Amino acid sequence: MLPPSSPGARPSMSRPRALFALLCLCAGACNPELGLAIGPDASSSSLDCEEPEIPASGDAGIGDAGIDDGGVPGAHPVVIVSIDGLRADAVALAPADTIISLACRGAYSMDAQTILPSTTLPAHASMVSGYTAEQHGLLHDYMKADCYIEVPTVFGLAEEAGLRAVIVVGKQKLVQLAPPGTCDEFLWISAGDAAVVDAAIGAIEDGFDILFVHLPEVDYAGHTSGWMSVEYLAQVRAADGEVARLVAALPAGTTVIVTADHGGHGTKHSEGTAEDRTIPWIIAGPGVRQGTEIGAEVSVMDTAATAAFALGFALEPDAVGRPVDEAFAP
Ligand SMILES: [Zn+2]
Repeated sequence: MLPPSSPGARPSMSRPRALFALLCLCAGACNPELGLAIGPDASSSSLDCEEPEIPASGDAGIGDAGIDDGGVPGAHPVVIVSIDGLRADAVALAPADTIISLACRGAYSMDAQTILPSTTLPAHASMVSGYTAEQHGLLHDYMKADCYIEVPTVFGLAEEAGLRAVIVVGKQKLVQLAPPGTCDEFLWISAGDAAVVDAAIGAIEDGFDILFVHLPEVDYAGHTSGWMSVEYLAQVRAADGEVARLVAALPAGTTVIVTADHGGHGTKHSEGTAEDRTIPWIIAGPGVRQGTEIGAEVSVMDTAATAAFALGFALEPDAVGRPVDEAFAP
């Protein structure tokens, strides 16, 4: 067990005001009658968000094809969408209507935490493996030829289980998450979020059991214009639109997880501040509770474990990530 101060250890958590803002937005997004005239001061709203009326499907631009809200985990395809650099509180502020709607139709934490270092390659390695940075060994954050993650990933485990794993990323360095033989298809798309989603939609048509989709442009906007700047929030809305397009293309019964590798502050994210580490974590799909705020601590490492659970297998016992049980109906 790691000491609390160690990188990768689960941090203690507090509930940010942004969570309440999201809850209020949830009620609006899921109830068109309520309207959605809620801005950055949404935390002052007095909407009762504890018992939102949630439609079965098809709202806020999400196609009916993507998510079947019934059924149980296992034997269903899973998509992990990582929006690079998406701060949790940006979801409500942008607002990212599709992501909010997914949260309302599923379970979510707006207080999930990424690992240290809060940088792209190490955090994604933890996201897709369930291991700490010390365990997975990818502590650098740049392209390094012939260097690969040293622990099993959810993709490799899926392959061993006879499942089809497909990875579509917007940054070349993420190839280090996919050692040869651990996925059926790896696509590096350098032309931005829309091109990544175009490629992912093509991959969906070929079939998959687990699909990883990485959208790079929110992070670029943070580095260029600053996290939470007008430009950054506009990019969050654009990425949200790409998520809508992706979800609409998914087969019924798909479990969707939307999260991020890190947040950011100023024009950086590597210092491990609360703004750097706090990320959204949202899941919707078969057997997932609807409109549920996850009370338990959620780590980026839990992404791999939860995806594995939804697919019907488990990570290795030494992985730190755990399935987010609270997200699923008993
Ligand atoms: Zn990143």
